Amino acid sequence: MIAIRNAAEIEAMRRSGRALGVILQRLSALVRPGVTTRDLDEVAARMIREAGGKSPFYNYRGFPGHICSSVNDGVIHGIPGPRKLLYGDVVKLDVGIILGGWVSDTAVSVPVGAVRPEIDALLAKTQEALTLGIAQARAGNRLGDISAAIGNCVFAAGYTVVEDFVGHGVGRQLHEEPQIANFGKRGSGPLLKAGMTLAIEPMVNMGGKKVKVLQDKWTVVTADGHPSAHFEHTVLVTDGEPEILTRPLTMTA
Ligand code: MG
Repeated sequence: MIAIRNAAEIEAMRRSGRALGVILQRLSALVRPGVTTRDLDEVAARMIREAGGKSPFYNYRGFPGHICSSVNDGVIHGIPGPRKLLYGDVVKLDVGIILGGWVSDTAVSVPVGAVRPEIDALLAKTQEALTLGIAQARAGNRLGDISAAIGNCVFAAGYTVVEDFVGHGVGRQLHEEPQIANFGKRGSGPLLKAGMTLAIEPMVNMGGKKVKVLQDKWTVVTADGHPSAHFEHTVLVTDGEPEILTRPLTMTA
């Protein structure tokens, strides 16, 4: 069953998402060579606390960070630590908040200084895939319309999508139904209804789609060592335009 939020719940999700969008935007601005992923984790933990919230990632099945930070071939679930970011790296920052009992989830891939043009292109395409996926999150469409829009965009560019990890419903819990694959068939899957809140999150690999989990039991990396990109928003399905709940302040359109 996919939860449908009522008007009061939607308002609460808006508050949660708005706070988180600002936090991720401010966190991204701190990325530069020499900063460690632990530094970013500490700042994020403080911002989440100051917003009156809690991190839904912290201690999730024992996860030891407040955010996930994944570098270069890291796809998702990277544990913050002493690794210093280097000029030319790309770091994926995935943050969540529980605010007033409501969870939102958002992620961005941030270049450290300037990155190789191929990585810039990968980031741009992944962001485009997210935008196209979000555009399908409207009442009357099917879940597969979101998945297909993402996958088709990615495949046309010659990249692959990670199949072992997917987007998800979000709200009362970090991970709720449905699972949202980043590839699929138009017109397939459950009907989307106004009031659904979905975390849509393409994970796009420059090389092959295969990933593996490191010995720390969390960090997911590409099997072939090529770079990966990840962008995510928490989105409200409406009868009209989809509403991005984790929109950063400066994001227009
Ligand atoms: Mg997520």
